[in-house]
Amino acid sequence: MAEVTAKHVFKRFGEVTAVNDFDLKIRDKEFLVLVGPSGCGKTTTLRMVAGLEEITDGEIYIGDRLVNDVAPKDRDIAMVFQNYALYPHMNVYDNMAFGLKLRHFKREDIDRRVKEAAEILGIGQLLKRKPKELSGGQRQRVALGRAIVREPQAFLMDEPLSNLDAKLRVQTRTELKKLHARLETTAIYVTHDQTEAMTMGDRIVVMKDGVIQQVAEPQEIYNRPANMFVAGFIGAPAMNFLKGRLVKEGDNLYMDLGTSKMLVPAERAKTWLPYAGREVMFGIRPEELIHEGAFREAHPDWVVPARIEVVEPMGSETYLYLTVGDQAATSRAEGNVIAHDGETMEFAINMERVHAFDPETERAIA
Ligand code: ATP
Repeated sequence: MAEVTAKHVFKRFGEVTAVNDFDLKIRDKEFLVLVGPSGCGKTTTLRMVAGLEEITDGEIYIGDRLVNDVAPKDRDIAMVFQNYALYPHMNVYDNMAFGLKLRHFKREDIDRRVKEAAEILGIGQLLKRKPKELSGGQRQRVALGRAIVREPQAFLMDEPLSNLDAKLRVQTRTELKKLHARLETTAIYVTHDQTEAMTMGDRIVVMKDGVIQQVAEPQEIYNRPANMFVAGFIGAPAMNFLKGRLVKEGDNLYMDLGTSKMLVPAERAKTWLPYAGREVMFGIRPEELIHEGAFREAHPDWVVPARIEVVEPMGSETYLYLTVGDQAATSRAEGNVIAHDGETMEFAINMERVHAFDPETERAIA
């Protein structure tokens, strides 16, 4: 158990700055998720914490100890990778015990730790099997077991679920969360999957081009994205971005999308007022573009017509792909909505939850 602190950490590979001023304190016992598109620097960040990659600039502390020059094996951390190659000729027990044997742990300590970890992971009955006699999910658990027996200060995990099929991934996600609660160990978890980030992280770090875009709890990231990148990356289907203007008429402020104008609620109007008369990028989550009748009737000032381009039934809900004016948007409607390609329907935009971004800086106007 320990805090992990990165102070102004940089990693350059020749011309490429893979990690650019990563500055963050990861709290003791926290489950921190690093998320971002391919190449954004998350693996490199994790590998620097692990000591597998040299730091170009900055400092990394595990607990109070500066580890810049500490070898990976002496950092007291355990890593779980996507490719968790188990030793094929060893059984499960020996796979889990191997690292401890290398470190000259006493036989009875090894036995206790392996059995405890196996119990926690529910693989006690598999200890004598070889990896080839296990399912993918069971192998993944053995790989986790190998990390757990180390009783490390921190777990580092790099896309550990990406080799599992969709159903098993969801199940293992929940198991990992429970496991973390039980072990009470700091964990840093890398993924490109925003759903994993949202469901697993105590806090999420969204990265792009080596730069941290936002660090916050999942709901905060979802409800108050700092910029258009975060807004578009977190959430599925993705947030709609509609170009428009803020227009002041008397005491009222309107979101003007060209074809229709929607009244901005007072609270938001106060924040957005400096942008009156200017072009703004509005961000609307698909669930806030609402077809449902009662909502439309309650908010006649927020109604906008849209043309249905494609209807995508998902069972419990239906995605409607629309054009609003000449801009594309997605609405997440009820499963039983009746909609046909090519027809025009009315929607109401939940203006209490619309985001506004400066089109030049792409930062949230907040
Ligand atoms: P992915 O999800 O694809 O693994 P990532 O976010 O983990 O992506 P990194 O692997 O950290 O990204 O890579 C960040 C950047 O650094 C990329 O532009 C990558 O091409 C570059 N990079 C990584 N390792 C090296 C290396 N050894 N030499 C040169 N460039 C590298």
